[in-house]
Amino acid sequence: MAKLTDDQLAQLKTALQQRYLDLREEVRGELERSGEQRYVDLAGSVADIGDDSVADMLVDLDAAIVDRQVNEMREVEATLKRLAELNFGDCIDCGGEIGFDRLMAYPTAQRCVRCQSLHEKTYSHEPNPTL
Ligand SMILES: [Zn+2]
Repeated sequence: MAKLTDDQLAQLKTALQQRYLDLREEVRGELERSGEQRYVDLAGSVADIGDDSVADMLVDLDAAIVDRQVNEMREVEATLKRLAELNFGDCIDCGGEIGFDRLMAYPTAQRCVRCQSLHEKTYSHEPNPTL
């Protein structure tokens, strides 16, 4: 089990929340450029992370233009939920520690460096699912 201190968890939470806000700003920027004003208003109307998932909302609206950001927002949301779990910080493949430094660099990481590179080698040719 990963041994993250409360302080480290708090730092990760802050990093994730900041990432989420950055992504939301990116989404708004993209939508503004695309002239989708109604989506811009919607993305800006949800003030806090939590009850209303901005990512879900945007997916419902079929906002394909912000696919990448929406996917990452979903990852961030899922990671924020996992922060409360005892096994947070464990690699989903080998069960070892992902490591605090790696998590700070990639807060949504679910694998340790070794498993991630294996995973990427295995799946690097997999086509991205598109709608
Ligand atoms: Zn691993």
